[in-house]
Amino acid sequence: MIKLTNISKIYPKNIVALDNVSLHIKPQEFVCLAGQSGAGKSTLIRLLTAEERPTQGKIKVLGWDVDLIKPRHIPLFRRKIGIVFQDFKLLPRKTVWENVAYALMVSDTPDKEIERMVPKVLEMVGLSRKQQQFPNELSAGEQQRVSIARALAHEPKLLLADEPTGNLDLIRALEITDILKRINKILGTTIILATHNKDVVNRLRKRVITLDNGVVIRDQEKGRYVI
Ligand code: ADP
Repeated sequence: MIKLTNISKIYPKNIVALDNVSLHIKPQEFVCLAGQSGAGKSTLIRLLTAEERPTQGKIKVLGWDVDLIKPRHIPLFRRKIGIVFQDFKLLPRKTVWENVAYALMVSDTPDKEIERMVPKVLEMVGLSRKQQQFPNELSAGEQQRVSIARALAHEPKLLLADEPTGNLDLIRALEITDILKRINKILGTTIILATHNKDVVNRLRKRVITLDNGVVIRDQEKGRYVI
């Protein structure tokens, strides 16, 4: 599903964000990518989505050689993965239903398919009854659930979530991770959850890959995040 081999990422001014990282993530795994701010989590996620290029090393995602991907192939590649961010990036003038449908419309999905998928993914995140609300009529947790539904609309095999609970209190954060667990279990979606939140990681009891200063310092099944 994902294979990183000797990945390094050095930003201008010689800032080493990742230093010789190798990882293997299998289909249907749920992985927490843990580490303090500046550890390199977002850089790793951005390398997986081809938003950044590695300075060195090989990246395989869903059979694509992402380190070599041609810019014209990136939109097609991105449609195969779901991405969720800390700030929900919803369209404020569109309803919940339209926010999710829009992601499908821009990739020329037939209307019939849109009408089938949108209710399905909104049900998955528990928002069936809020389809006609606008983002500003929702709580922060609900807004994040819309962005998860939107990420699921293309039925990705891989969902990448970069600090999806960063703007939420612990109760709401755990609601989000429960939804991610359900998606992983029911749909079989491979999930990578990047977070610095120890409580979130330690309640999940999933594989934990801990980054520190761009290096993997720990990789444990049913792991814990200890600083
Ligand atoms: P995390 O997501 O764990 O907080 P990041 O991947 O954002 O970590 O950052 C890792 C390191 O790379 C930090 O030192 C950060 O300042 C640096 N960095 C991140 N993005 C850039 C960038 N676009 N340009 C230069 N340095 C960056």
